[in-house]
Amino acid sequence: MSSQNAQEYIQSIVEKIKIKDYDEPEFLQAVEEVLSSLEPVLKRHPEFIDVNLLERFCEPERQMLFKVSWIDDAGKYRVNRGYRIQFNGNIGPYKGGLRFHPNVNQSIMKFLGFEQTLKNSLTGLSIGGGKGGADFNPKGKSDREINRFCESFMLELYKHIGKDVDVPAGDMGVGEREIGYLFGMYRRIKGSFDNGALTGKGLSYGGSLLRPEATGYGVAYFADDILNYCKDSLEGKTVAVSGFGQVAWGVCKKMEQLGAKVVTLSGPEGYIYDKDGVIGEKVDYLVELSKEHRVGRILSYADKYKVPFYPSRKPWEVKVDIAIPSAIENDILIEDAKNIVNNGVKYVVEAANMPCSYEALAYLTSNGVLVGPAKAANAGGVAVSALEMSQNSIRLSWTAEEVDSKLKQIMKDIFLNSLNAAQSYGLGVNLIAGANIAGFEKISNAMMAQGYY
Ligand code: GLU
Repeated sequence: MSSQNAQEYIQSIVEKIKIKDYDEPEFLQAVEEVLSSLEPVLKRHPEFIDVNLLERFCEPERQMLFKVSWIDDAGKYRVNRGYRIQFNGNIGPYKGGLRFHPNVNQSIMKFLGFEQTLKNSLTGLSIGGGKGGADFNPKGKSDREINRFCESFMLELYKHIGKDVDVPAGDMGVGEREIGYLFGMYRRIKGSFDNGALTGKGLSYGGSLLRPEATGYGVAYFADDILNYCKDSLEGKTVAVSGFGQVAWGVCKKMEQLGAKVVTLSGPEGYIYDKDGVIGEKVDYLVELSKEHRVGRILSYADKYKVPFYPSRKPWEVKVDIAIPSAIENDILIEDAKNIVNNGVKYVVEAANMPCSYEALAYLTSNGVLVGPAKAANAGGVAVSALEMSQNSIRLSWTAEEVDSKLKQIMKDIFLNSLNAAQSYGLGVNLIAGANIAGFEKISNAMMAQGYY
């Protein structure tokens, strides 16, 4: 029996990490949020305290930081920082996206790797957690510049990845085109197809049908599961979405199929309000716009469809039934959370990773808003990536219907596992704690079985 009680132990680990990683605010935010959910688990499993499981769990297994130099179209020599965090490999090869965005740094990579570890565990599939990327801004870059950057990035990354080692995918700024350039370079260096090695590939060389839609579709299925559980329905509901990328259009498309209507989209410069809903050919337009992430602006949607555009404002001021942040971390701050509560929004389903600040999240939950946490709600993307790995290894492709029905079932299982975990610890319908607990349970079992690492 442990001499330390669960709460003291958690506090001591948080304090240690605050000292070790004092300059990593996003990582600390994620660690505090997750560890605060695990107190009941430690009470049931005091043996985890005896083996210092939490400190071991919060330390990434490996962190790569490397130089990516390349030459732009004007002949100028450019340098960026590349990252790959292999956070936890206890339940399978590291798996997670690559993000190309100017704000990428060690803290953001680590928080994303940590969240990914729990998310991937929640999918029920055998994938560990990792994340990577570069502080490279794809906006305004030519196709050749993107190609050269991807090649230079892969010239280092290839040393660290492989089908049974670490399987990267896309994230912000990395779509099918970038995955193509990255995989092309990987294959040339390795001289092997290596079962695909990356996911999010094009359909002609091992990609999975519905992978581009998967994150957004999964979020919509998860919202559907939440509302059904609450004896409510998506039919006729209005939805505020932020962002206008791949996740956002996936949400729009599936919401339309499930009878709900997305009425807002946003970019860094403001948001649009489309009272008739982002439906039909408007979604096709959005798909095209999101591919142009170097130049695309949500303002073009307002111009094309003659809908109002609100500069420098966020969609959280609109009265809707459901809010789905689908852009970037810390998109919903305390004043936005107050707007959401004042507008009577009952559900917030997180499509982006950590879209709510710690304070905003606390405000939403204490005011009765039911929050579907990102690591559960947006797990459909990585789940279909794992289905892509399976298809590559059996050298067969499943139909869109097969992938969609597997995705729907996976999302339902994630919802039920999160709910059951919360309920089994007397936490009611607290899906935030439930998802943390359910994700952690599998990893903690695997860590206990595999020794002291
Ligand atoms: N970047 C996505 C995520 O946050 C997908 C990762 C993957 O498919 O490996 O889950």
